[in-house]
Amino acid sequence: MLTVNAYAATSATEPLAPTTIERRDVGPHDVLIEIKYCGICHSDIHFVRGEWGPQTYPVVPGHEFAGIVTEVGSEVTKHAVGDRVGVGCMVNSCRECANCLKGEEQYCLKGNTLTYGAPDKDGTRTQGGYSTHVVVTEDFVVRIPDGLGLDEAAPLLCAGATTYSPLRHWGAGPGKKVAVIGLGGLGHLGVKLAHAMGAEVTVLSQSLKKMDDGLRLGADHYHATNDPATFEKLAGSFDVILNTVSGNVDRGAYMNLLALDGAFVTLGASSEPEISFPTFAVAANRRVFTYSLIAGIRETQEMLDFCAEYGIGAEIEVIPAEKINEAYERVLASDVRYRFVIDIASLA
Ligand code: NAP
Ligand code: ZN
Ligand code: ZN
Repeated sequence: MLTVNAYAATSATEPLAPTTIERRDVGPHDVLIEIKYCGICHSDIHFVRGEWGPQTYPVVPGHEFAGIVTEVGSEVTKHAVGDRVGVGCMVNSCRECANCLKGEEQYCLKGNTLTYGAPDKDGTRTQGGYSTHVVVTEDFVVRIPDGLGLDEAAPLLCAGATTYSPLRHWGAGPGKKVAVIGLGGLGHLGVKLAHAMGAEVTVLSQSLKKMDDGLRLGADHYHATNDPATFEKLAGSFDVILNTVSGNVDRGAYMNLLALDGAFVTLGASSEPEISFPTFAVAANRRVFTYSLIAGIRETQEMLDFCAEYGIGAEIEVIPAEKINEAYERVLASDVRYRFVIDIASLA
Protein backbone atom coordinates (compact mmCIF):
# COMPACT_ATOMS: atom_id res chain seq x y z
CA MET A 1 0.00 0.00 0.00
CA LEU A 2 1.11 3.53 -0.71
CA THR A 3 -0.07 6.43 1.47
CA VAL A 4 -0.54 9.55 -0.64
CA ASN A 5 -1.60 13.16 -0.10
CA ALA A 6 -5.02 14.16 -1.41
CA TYR A 7 -7.84 16.68 -1.12
CA ALA A 8 -11.20 15.26 -0.09
CA ALA A 9 -14.80 16.19 0.59
CA THR A 10 -15.86 14.90 4.00
CA SER A 11 -19.56 15.71 3.61
CA ALA A 12 -21.93 17.32 1.11
CA THR A 13 -21.62 20.67 2.84
CA GLU A 14 -18.06 20.99 4.23
CA PRO A 15 -15.29 22.53 2.11
CA LEU A 16 -12.76 20.08 0.67
CA ALA A 17 -9.70 19.63 2.89
CA PRO A 18 -6.24 18.01 2.78
CA THR A 19 -6.04 14.35 3.79
CA THR A 20 -4.12 11.15 3.04
CA ILE A 21 -5.48 8.04 1.31
CA GLU A 22 -4.14 4.56 0.56
CA ARG A 23 -3.41 3.35 -2.95
CA ARG A 24 -3.33 -0.39 -3.58
CA ASP A 25 -0.12 -2.27 -4.41
CA VAL A 26 0.69 -2.34 -8.12
CA GLY A 27 -0.82 -5.59 -9.46
CA PRO A 28 0.41 -7.44 -12.58
CA HIS A 29 -1.82 -5.37 -14.91
CA ASP A 30 -1.58 -2.05 -13.04
CA VAL A 31 0.41 1.12 -13.54
CA LEU A 32 1.36 3.58 -10.82
CA ILE A 33 0.95 7.17 -12.03
CA GLU A 34 2.48 10.24 -10.43
CA ILE A 35 -0.29 12.76 -11.11
CA LYS A 36 0.91 16.17 -12.29
CA TYR A 37 -2.33 18.01 -13.15
CA CYS A 38 -6.02 17.37 -12.50
CA GLY A 39 -8.90 19.37 -13.96
CA ILE A 40 -11.94 20.48 -11.98
CA CYS A 41 -15.10 19.29 -13.74
CA HIS A 42 -18.53 20.62 -12.81
CA SER A 43 -19.44 16.96 -12.20
CA ASP A 44 -17.02 16.96 -9.23
CA ILE A 45 -19.19 19.65 -7.65
CA HIS A 46 -22.51 17.90 -8.42
CA PHE A 47 -21.06 14.68 -6.99
CA VAL A 48 -19.43 15.82 -3.74
CA ARG A 49 -22.41 18.00 -2.88
CA GLY A 50 -24.72 15.01 -3.13
CA GLU A 51 -26.71 16.47 -6.04
CA TRP A 52 -26.75 13.06 -7.76
CA GLY A 53 -27.78 11.24 -4.57
CA PRO A 54 -26.16 10.53 -1.20
CA GLN A 55 -22.45 9.63 -1.28
CA THR A 56 -20.04 7.77 0.99
CA TYR A 57 -17.42 10.19 2.35
CA PRO A 58 -14.59 10.97 2.23
CA VAL A 59 -14.58 11.46 -1.55
CA VAL A 60 -11.43 12.49 -3.40
CA PRO A 61 -12.80 13.89 -6.68
CA GLY A 62 -10.94 14.30 -9.95
CA HIS A 63 -11.61 12.37 -13.16
CA GLU A 64 -9.48 14.17 -15.72
CA PHE A 65 -5.81 13.95 -14.86
CA ALA A 66 -2.44 13.58 -16.48
CA GLY A 67 0.91 12.44 -15.14
CA ILE A 68 3.91 10.16 -15.50
CA VAL A 69 4.10 6.39 -15.09
CA THR A 70 6.50 5.57 -12.24
CA GLU A 71 5.97 1.81 -11.90
CA VAL A 72 4.35 -0.93 -13.98
CA GLY A 73 3.10 -4.41 -13.07
CA SER A 74 4.85 -7.54 -14.35
CA GLU A 75 2.29 -8.17 -17.15
CA VAL A 76 1.88 -4.58 -18.38
CA THR A 77 2.50 -4.12 -22.10
CA LYS A 78 0.78 -0.82 -22.99
CA HIS A 79 2.73 1.61 -20.81
CA ALA A 80 6.28 1.95 -19.50
CA VAL A 81 7.98 3.88 -16.72
CA GLY A 82 8.40 7.50 -17.83
CA ASP A 83 5.38 7.53 -20.19
CA ARG A 84 3.09 10.58 -20.21
CA VAL A 85 -0.40 9.27 -19.55
CA GLY A 86 -3.91 10.28 -18.56
CA VAL A 87 -7.01 8.84 -16.90
CA GLY A 88 -10.61 9.95 -17.37
CA CYS A 89 -13.93 9.09 -15.75
CA MET A 90 -13.63 5.28 -15.68
CA VAL A 91 -10.97 2.98 -14.24
CA ASN A 92 -12.56 -0.35 -15.21
CA SER A 93 -15.59 -2.04 -16.76
CA CYS A 94 -16.86 -5.62 -17.16
CA ARG A 95 -14.95 -5.96 -20.48
CA GLU A 96 -17.32 -8.70 -21.73
CA CYS A 97 -20.76 -7.17 -22.35
CA ALA A 98 -21.81 -6.20 -25.88
CA ASN A 99 -21.07 -2.53 -25.28
CA CYS A 100 -17.64 -3.13 -23.74
CA LEU A 101 -16.75 -5.41 -26.64
CA LYS A 102 -17.64 -2.53 -29.00
CA GLY A 103 -15.23 -0.28 -27.07
CA GLU A 104 -18.10 1.73 -25.55
CA GLU A 105 -17.17 1.00 -21.93
CA GLN A 106 -18.95 4.18 -20.84
CA TYR A 107 -22.18 2.29 -21.58
CA CYS A 108 -21.05 -0.98 -19.91
CA LEU A 109 -24.22 -3.02 -19.35
CA LYS A 110 -22.96 -4.31 -16.00
CA GLY A 111 -21.84 -0.87 -14.84
CA ASN A 112 -18.30 0.44 -15.22
CA THR A 113 -16.11 1.50 -12.31
CA LEU A 114 -16.05 5.28 -12.03
CA THR A 115 -12.75 6.93 -11.14
CA TYR A 116 -14.00 8.12 -7.77
CA GLY A 117 -16.80 7.38 -5.33
CA ALA A 118 -17.50 3.93 -6.75
CA PRO A 119 -17.11 0.41 -5.32
CA ASP A 120 -13.93 -1.17 -6.69
CA LYS A 121 -13.42 -4.87 -7.41
CA ASP A 122 -11.36 -5.34 -4.23
CA GLY A 123 -14.17 -3.98 -2.02
CA THR A 124 -12.59 -0.55 -1.48
CA ARG A 125 -14.00 2.67 -2.96
CA THR A 126 -12.27 4.44 -5.80
CA GLN A 127 -10.67 7.81 -5.10
CA GLY A 128 -9.85 10.32 -7.85
CA GLY A 129 -7.15 12.60 -9.11
CA TYR A 130 -7.01 15.37 -6.50
CA SER A 131 -4.09 13.30 -5.17
CA THR A 132 -0.41 12.75 -5.85
CA HIS A 133 -0.52 9.14 -7.12
CA VAL A 134 -3.02 6.60 -8.41
CA VAL A 135 -2.91 2.92 -9.36
CA VAL A 136 -5.00 2.05 -12.43
CA THR A 137 -5.34 -1.05 -14.58
CA GLU A 138 -3.38 -0.45 -17.81
CA ASP A 139 -6.37 -0.75 -20.18
CA PHE A 140 -7.99 2.36 -18.69
CA VAL A 141 -4.87 4.50 -19.02
CA VAL A 142 -4.35 6.49 -22.23
CA ARG A 143 -1.27 8.00 -23.80
CA ILE A 144 -0.81 11.80 -23.87
CA PRO A 145 0.81 12.57 -27.23
CA ASP A 146 4.00 14.63 -27.33
CA GLY A 147 3.17 18.21 -28.14
CA LEU A 148 0.32 18.42 -25.63
CA GLY A 149 1.29 19.86 -22.25
CA LEU A 150 0.13 17.71 -19.33
CA ASP A 151 -1.67 20.73 -17.84
CA GLU A 152 -3.69 21.61 -20.95
CA ALA A 153 -4.26 17.90 -21.68
CA ALA A 154 -5.77 17.02 -18.28
CA PRO A 155 -9.24 18.49 -19.03
CA LEU A 156 -9.35 16.63 -22.34
CA LEU A 157 -9.74 13.37 -20.40
CA CYS A 158 -13.31 14.28 -19.40
CA ALA A 159 -14.39 17.54 -21.04
CA GLY A 160 -12.62 16.76 -24.34
CA ALA A 161 -13.85 13.17 -24.55
CA THR A 162 -17.42 14.15 -23.62
CA THR A 163 -17.68 16.70 -26.43
CA TYR A 164 -15.62 14.81 -29.06
CA SER A 165 -17.76 11.64 -28.88
CA PRO A 166 -21.16 13.17 -29.76
CA LEU A 167 -19.60 15.47 -32.37
CA ARG A 168 -18.22 12.38 -34.14
CA HIS A 169 -21.35 10.31 -33.56
CA TRP A 170 -23.67 12.98 -35.00
CA GLY A 171 -21.40 13.73 -37.94
CA ALA A 172 -19.93 17.18 -37.18
CA GLY A 173 -17.76 18.17 -40.14
CA PRO A 174 -17.68 20.28 -43.30
CA GLY A 175 -21.15 21.46 -44.34
CA LYS A 176 -22.62 20.86 -40.86
CA LYS A 177 -23.80 23.54 -38.47
CA VAL A 178 -23.02 22.89 -34.82
CA ALA A 179 -24.22 24.98 -31.87
CA VAL A 180 -22.71 24.74 -28.40
CA ILE A 181 -24.83 25.93 -25.46
CA GLY A 182 -22.68 27.19 -22.55
CA LEU A 183 -19.09 28.34 -22.86
CA GLY A 184 -17.56 26.62 -19.85
CA GLY A 185 -15.23 23.65 -19.47
CA LEU A 186 -17.06 21.33 -21.86
CA GLY A 187 -18.38 24.10 -24.09
CA HIS A 188 -15.06 25.73 -24.94
CA LEU A 189 -13.60 22.37 -25.96
CA GLY A 190 -16.75 21.57 -27.93
CA VAL A 191 -16.16 24.79 -29.90
CA LYS A 192 -12.49 24.02 -30.57
CA LEU A 193 -13.17 20.41 -31.58
CA ALA A 194 -16.17 21.15 -33.82
CA HIS A 195 -14.17 23.91 -35.54
CA ALA A 196 -11.21 21.57 -36.09
CA MET A 197 -13.59 18.97 -37.55
CA GLY A 198 -14.61 21.56 -40.15
CA ALA A 199 -18.10 22.40 -38.92
CA GLU A 200 -19.62 25.90 -38.86
CA VAL A 201 -19.80 26.65 -35.14
CA THR A 202 -22.16 28.86 -33.15
CA VAL A 203 -21.89 29.62 -29.44
CA LEU A 204 -25.13 30.09 -27.52
CA SER A 205 -24.10 31.71 -24.24
CA GLN A 206 -26.23 33.42 -21.61
CA SER A 207 -24.80 36.81 -22.57
CA LEU A 208 -22.30 38.35 -24.99
CA LYS A 209 -19.65 38.70 -22.22
CA LYS A 210 -17.40 35.93 -23.58
CA MET A 211 -17.93 36.72 -27.27
CA ASP A 212 -14.31 37.67 -28.05
CA ASP A 213 -13.12 34.42 -26.48
CA GLY A 214 -15.73 32.37 -28.30
CA LEU A 215 -14.69 33.71 -31.68
CA ARG A 216 -10.98 33.27 -30.83
CA LEU A 217 -11.63 29.64 -29.86
CA GLY A 218 -13.03 28.98 -33.33
CA ALA A 219 -16.70 29.92 -33.32
CA ASP A 220 -18.08 31.50 -36.50
CA HIS A 221 -21.09 33.02 -34.73
CA TYR A 222 -22.00 33.96 -31.19
CA HIS A 223 -25.45 34.71 -29.77
CA ALA A 224 -26.84 35.56 -26.35
CA THR A 225 -29.64 33.33 -25.11
CA ASN A 226 -30.93 36.09 -22.83
CA ASP A 227 -32.10 37.82 -26.04
CA PRO A 228 -35.41 36.28 -27.22
CA ALA A 229 -34.62 37.40 -30.80
CA THR A 230 -31.84 34.73 -30.87
CA PHE A 231 -34.48 31.99 -30.85
CA GLU A 232 -36.39 33.57 -33.74
CA LYS A 233 -33.32 34.29 -35.88
CA LEU A 234 -31.83 30.81 -35.52
CA ALA A 235 -35.00 28.68 -35.86
CA GLY A 236 -34.37 25.54 -37.95
CA SER A 237 -30.61 26.21 -38.27
CA PHE A 238 -28.49 23.49 -36.69
CA ASP A 239 -27.54 19.90 -37.47
CA VAL A 240 -26.15 19.30 -33.98
CA ILE A 241 -26.66 21.16 -30.72
CA LEU A 242 -24.44 20.25 -27.75
CA ASN A 243 -26.10 21.31 -24.50
CA THR A 244 -23.32 21.69 -21.91
CA VAL A 245 -25.36 23.67 -19.37
CA SER A 246 -24.99 22.41 -15.80
CA GLY A 247 -28.61 23.30 -14.96
CA ASN A 248 -31.87 23.03 -16.87
CA VAL A 249 -32.63 24.79 -20.14
CA ASP A 250 -35.88 25.27 -22.05
CA ARG A 251 -35.44 22.23 -24.26
CA GLY A 252 -38.41 23.00 -26.49
CA ALA A 253 -36.94 26.40 -27.38
CA TYR A 254 -33.60 24.81 -28.35
CA MET A 255 -35.18 21.86 -30.18
CA ASN A 256 -36.85 24.42 -32.42
CA LEU A 257 -33.38 25.55 -33.56
CA LEU A 258 -32.67 22.17 -35.19
CA ALA A 259 -32.76 21.63 -38.95
CA LEU A 260 -34.13 18.45 -40.60
CA ASP A 261 -32.77 15.36 -38.76
CA GLY A 262 -30.83 17.57 -36.40
CA ALA A 263 -29.83 16.22 -32.98
CA PHE A 264 -30.11 18.00 -29.63
CA VAL A 265 -27.53 16.28 -27.42
CA THR A 266 -27.59 16.97 -23.70
CA LEU A 267 -24.29 16.53 -21.88
CA GLY A 268 -25.10 18.61 -18.81
CA ALA A 269 -26.04 16.51 -15.82
CA SER A 270 -28.46 18.65 -13.87
CA SER A 271 -30.18 17.15 -10.86
CA GLU A 272 -33.07 19.60 -11.16
CA PRO A 273 -36.46 18.26 -12.32
CA GLU A 274 -36.50 18.19 -16.10
CA ILE A 275 -38.58 20.61 -18.12
CA SER A 276 -40.76 18.82 -20.63
CA PHE A 277 -41.20 20.02 -24.19
CA PRO A 278 -44.06 19.74 -26.68
CA THR A 279 -44.05 16.70 -28.98
CA PHE A 280 -44.13 18.89 -32.08
CA ALA A 281 -40.73 20.32 -31.09
CA VAL A 282 -39.36 16.86 -32.01
CA ALA A 283 -41.84 15.87 -34.72
CA ALA A 284 -41.18 18.93 -36.85
CA ASN A 285 -38.01 18.33 -38.86
CA ARG A 286 -37.74 14.67 -37.61
CA ARG A 287 -35.54 15.92 -34.80
CA VAL A 288 -33.58 13.77 -32.38
CA PHE A 289 -33.51 14.40 -28.65
CA THR A 290 -30.70 12.52 -26.93
CA TYR A 291 -27.94 12.41 -24.33
CA SER A 292 -24.30 11.39 -24.45
CA LEU A 293 -21.91 10.11 -21.77
CA ILE A 294 -18.13 10.68 -21.87
CA ALA A 295 -16.36 8.39 -24.41
CA GLY A 296 -14.93 4.88 -24.54
CA ILE A 297 -11.21 4.29 -24.02
CA ARG A 298 -10.41 3.81 -27.73
CA GLU A 299 -12.26 7.00 -28.66
CA THR A 300 -10.60 8.91 -25.81
CA GLN A 301 -7.20 7.99 -27.27
CA GLU A 302 -8.45 8.97 -30.75
CA MET A 303 -9.55 12.35 -29.33
CA LEU A 304 -6.14 12.96 -27.74
CA ASP A 305 -4.37 12.12 -31.00
CA PHE A 306 -6.77 14.46 -32.86
CA CYS A 307 -6.06 17.24 -30.34
CA ALA A 308 -2.30 16.79 -30.77
CA GLU A 309 -2.70 16.94 -34.57
CA TYR A 310 -4.77 20.15 -34.43
CA GLY A 311 -2.93 21.75 -31.50
CA ILE A 312 -5.96 21.67 -29.23
CA GLY A 313 -5.55 21.91 -25.47
CA ALA A 314 -7.89 23.29 -22.84
CA GLU A 315 -7.74 26.99 -21.91
CA ILE A 316 -6.75 26.67 -18.29
CA GLU A 317 -6.24 28.52 -15.05
CA VAL A 318 -3.74 26.54 -12.98
CA ILE A 319 -4.34 26.70 -9.22
CA PRO A 320 -2.75 25.22 -6.10
CA ALA A 321 -4.86 22.69 -4.18
CA GLU A 322 -5.72 25.16 -1.43
CA LYS A 323 -7.75 27.15 -3.98
CA ILE A 324 -10.07 24.24 -4.88
CA ASN A 325 -13.00 25.52 -2.80
CA GLU A 326 -12.68 29.01 -4.25
CA ALA A 327 -12.54 27.49 -7.75
CA TYR A 328 -15.76 25.55 -7.09
CA GLU A 329 -17.56 28.80 -6.26
CA ARG A 330 -16.23 30.42 -9.42
CA VAL A 331 -17.38 27.47 -11.55
CA LEU A 332 -20.85 27.78 -10.02
CA ALA A 333 -20.87 31.48 -10.91
CA SER A 334 -19.90 30.68 -14.57
CA ASP A 335 -16.65 32.54 -13.80
CA VAL A 336 -14.25 30.03 -15.31
CA ARG A 337 -12.07 30.66 -18.35
CA TYR A 338 -12.31 27.90 -19.15
CA ARG A 339 -11.10 25.10 -16.89
CA PHE A 340 -9.46 25.14 -13.49
CA VAL A 341 -6.55 22.72 -13.30
CA ILE A 342 -4.93 21.76 -9.98
CA ASP A 343 -1.13 21.77 -9.90
CA ILE A 344 -0.69 18.52 -7.99
CA ALA A 345 2.86 19.51 -6.95
CA SER A 346 1.08 21.78 -4.44
CA LEU A 347 -0.12 18.62 -2.63
CA ALA A 348 3.33 17.05 -2.23
P1 NAP B 1 -19.06 24.62 -16.49
O1 NAP B 1 -17.61 24.83 -16.76
O2 NAP B 1 -19.67 25.17 -15.26
O3 NAP B 1 -19.86 25.12 -17.80
C1 NAP B 1 -21.25 25.18 -17.85
C2 NAP B 1 -21.65 26.44 -18.64
O4 NAP B 1 -23.07 26.44 -18.77
C3 NAP B 1 -21.32 27.76 -17.93
O5 NAP B 1 -20.02 28.19 -18.16
C4 NAP B 1 -22.35 28.70 -18.53
O6 NAP B 1 -21.91 29.15 -19.80
C5 NAP B 1 -23.55 27.79 -18.77
N1 NAP B 1 -24.55 27.92 -17.70
C6 NAP B 1 -24.37 27.75 -16.37
N2 NAP B 1 -25.51 27.93 -15.70
C7 NAP B 1 -26.45 28.23 -16.63
C8 NAP B 1 -27.84 28.51 -16.57
N3 NAP B 1 -28.50 28.53 -15.41
N4 NAP B 1 -28.50 28.77 -17.73
C9 NAP B 1 -27.85 28.75 -18.91
N5 NAP B 1 -26.53 28.49 -19.03
C10 NAP B 1 -25.85 28.23 -17.90
O7 NAP B 1 -19.37 23.04 -16.40
P2 NAP B 1 -18.69 21.82 -17.20
O8 NAP B 1 -17.61 21.24 -16.37
O9 NAP B 1 -18.45 22.21 -18.60
O10 NAP B 1 -19.88 20.77 -17.14
C11 NAP B 1 -21.14 21.09 -17.72
C12 NAP B 1 -22.17 20.03 -17.35
O11 NAP B 1 -21.82 18.80 -18.02
C13 NAP B 1 -22.23 19.68 -15.87
O12 NAP B 1 -23.58 19.44 -15.51
C14 NAP B 1 -21.43 18.39 -15.77
O13 NAP B 1 -21.78 17.60 -14.66
C15 NAP B 1 -21.81 17.74 -17.06
N6 NAP B 1 -20.89 16.72 -17.57
C16 NAP B 1 -21.44 15.68 -18.23
C17 NAP B 1 -20.63 14.71 -18.80
C18 NAP B 1 -21.22 13.60 -19.60
O14 NAP B 1 -20.56 12.57 -19.79
N7 NAP B 1 -22.41 13.77 -20.13
C19 NAP B 1 -19.23 14.81 -18.66
C20 NAP B 1 -18.71 15.91 -17.98
C21 NAP B 1 -19.54 16.88 -17.45
P3 NAP B 1 -22.25 30.64 -20.35
O15 NAP B 1 -21.75 31.57 -19.29
O16 NAP B 1 -21.50 30.69 -21.62
O17 NAP B 1 -23.74 30.71 -20.56
ZN1 ZN C 1 -16.15 15.46 -15.87
ZN1 ZN D 1 -19.38 -4.14 -19.91
